[in-house]
Amino acid sequence: MAFEGLTDRLQKAMEKLRRKPKVTEADLRETMREIRLALLEADVNFTVVKDFVKKVREKATGADVLKGLNPAQQIVKIVNDELTQLMGEKAVPLNKAAHIPTVIMMVGLQGAGKTTTAGKLALRLKDENKARPLFIAADVYRPAAITQLKQVANQIDVPVFEKGTNVDPVDIVREGMEVAKQNHNDYVIIDTAGRLQIDEQLMDELANIKELVNPNEILLVIDSMTGQNAVNTAQGFDDKLDITGVVLTKLDGDTRGGAAMSIRAVTGKPIKFVGEGEKMTDLDVFHPDRMASRILG
Ligand code: GDP
Repeated sequence: MAFEGLTDRLQKAMEKLRRKPKVTEADLRETMREIRLALLEADVNFTVVKDFVKKVREKATGADVLKGLNPAQQIVKIVNDELTQLMGEKAVPLNKAAHIPTVIMMVGLQGAGKTTTAGKLALRLKDENKARPLFIAADVYRPAAITQLKQVANQIDVPVFEKGTNVDPVDIVREGMEVAKQNHNDYVIIDTAGRLQIDEQLMDELANIKELVNPNEILLVIDSMTGQNAVNTAQGFDDKLDITGVVLTKLDGDTRGGAAMSIRAVTGKPIKFVGEGEKMTDLDVFHPDRMASRILG
């Protein structure tokens, strides 16, 4: 279960507070210490934790919570509100082009779930918008990547434009865009190459594709299980590509949750979707308020 340890620790801290007939300044300090440790243990970025705790403390002090009724309950509410704020407050929808096609470029490290997420997204667009998407297979480094994209596309009945692995990805994307225009596809989803880690050549190639198509969305797909690295990855991709949003995958696993809580604060970019399984239907819109409630248990 995702967030298990974090939820457990936060709940324990809150329960301890609730049991006190009166909450003192020292109790508040102790609670804040417990929240801080819980967040750090869940791999939330250090600066984000520091900032978060400071804000909660300020709000609790400013509102004279300790003198009021149900101080513990009020602190729980402040924590909930701040957590929601931290993750972006509101769900952020996909960008849409004024004239079709809307171009979505999927980027991310190998194994993050890029291809799977491209499929999930296409299915969602088909179901909700009656869209007619086209995939462009721009990962020319692993022949298996094209095969995998085709398998995914087959399941959801979406066409794939591909030219094998011996062509410059920028040329593939250029041709693919022409095909999309001829066929009046309203969405184009570009599956790009990933690497085990960020490297200059990968980033240059992605930047070249970006320059060519000027995408409406550059969605960074991130594995939520990668802890602190998730945030570094997000920062690296954002610095080079100015991404428009993040999809956080594998939230159905036992992720500790740090990525979900840090990415927005560190990059300023919204998490737009979360992946919660391997099936094509396992993609949900990211709602910060619901996620905060889930984390707090
Ligand atoms: P890519 O290399 O970034 O294109 O990653 P893939 O799409 O090939 O995904 C890598 C693995 O992660 C595959 O086995 C997927 O089934 C799996 N995967 C992707 N998203 C999720 C998710 O949200 N939950 C789970 N449990 N597995 C996922």
